[in-house]
Amino acid sequence: MLDRLEQQPADALLALIKLHDADPRADKIDLGVGVYRTGDGATPVFEAIKAAERKLVAEQDTKAYLGPEGDMGFVHSLMPYVFGSNPTRGGRIDGMQTPGGTGAVRLALALAKKAGVTRVLMGTPSWPNHAQIVKDLGLELAGFNHAAEDGTPDFAALKAALAGAGEGDAVMLHGACHNPTGIDYTPDQWDEIVAILADSPVLPIVDLAYQGLGYGMDEDAYGVRKLVDAVPEAMIAQSCDKNFGLYRDRVGALYVLGKDAGDIERILSNGHALARAAWSMPPDHGAAAVRLVLRDADLTARWLAELEQMRTRIRQVREALAGAGQLGSVDLAPLARQSGMFAMLPLSKEQIEALRADYGIYMAGSGRINIAGLTTDNIPKFTAAIAAVAG
Ligand code: PMP
Repeated sequence: MLDRLEQQPADALLALIKLHDADPRADKIDLGVGVYRTGDGATPVFEAIKAAERKLVAEQDTKAYLGPEGDMGFVHSLMPYVFGSNPTRGGRIDGMQTPGGTGAVRLALALAKKAGVTRVLMGTPSWPNHAQIVKDLGLELAGFNHAAEDGTPDFAALKAALAGAGEGDAVMLHGACHNPTGIDYTPDQWDEIVAILADSPVLPIVDLAYQGLGYGMDEDAYGVRKLVDAVPEAMIAQSCDKNFGLYRDRVGALYVLGKDAGDIERILSNGHALARAAWSMPPDHGAAAVRLVLRDADLTARWLAELEQMRTRIRQVREALAGAGQLGSVDLAPLARQSGMFAMLPLSKEQIEALRADYGIYMAGSGRINIAGLTTDNIPKFTAAIAAVAG
């Protein structure tokens, strides 16, 4: 039976790590995998998380099972950061813990399917796992172009997709720091999206995986907050794996906005049932550490300061790259107006291969770069290499 299974392609980014690790050049640059890096190339554990972990080890007195909803103290402590003041919108929002943002996206789409959604509208390119999950659930994917030539959203394509959609459709939107393009909607555009969705049967699902890495925790939640003020129903998939640096601990939450406060318990009971059948319950450690950070004013302040340092560094690299402007066929200027850890450079396979072979610069085959892989020291080498291959 099992011998019938066909070989699946290896994860291209993981293969790239191996190539990078085997490269002996001292000035090689890794722009592949999507983790934050300091100016020294490290991805350290947050100080606030270290302190919370020490407290957790000292104080935790049982590791007995939680339910499929996970750590609800974590889920509720995070809500003011995601939804702002009046975080439950009068009892119409509640959530459950999930294994990372991936678990939250998976659960959102599975719940949507269970409720009758058959098609998912989504800007492309997107985080590749979105399409994989949609496909795995047997849902139809209706892609529309996300990025216009000038490095801003292709807003006309989004509006046309929504205009052609109806009952049984969901739309997947990135809340901030779009992966892989870095191209986000402006507040004015969010206002327009929200007005359209408020009047539409299309179910909005927002993936908010990089809150705080763009312009700030409040700024990056602009769209989500406006949306839940106006639409009847929505789901928000939140990840703490980037903004608390917890990647492998798998910390996320799915939040649901119902038409009526009375709907929430019933909707979430379906989320619990789906979780039971998939992962039973989410891993505890990382979410418990986030809860301890958020319930302690000093740790919260420390976390927010560390997050600000990350955001500032990403902005500095973006500004420096944008300052290089047009390099042959590649214009870096729009990077200053974009957000988060990623940008897409319009490079051919051959150009990406030449960057690797001739300059030791490693990036995804799509042309996506991890902005945090660059430092003030290696930016001149990077821009010179881009100018050489794209000139
Ligand atoms: N959504 C997007 C857009 C992402 O880029 C990622 C991580 N690469 C996730 C969700 C999931 O994050 P995690 O499961 O690691 O929390």
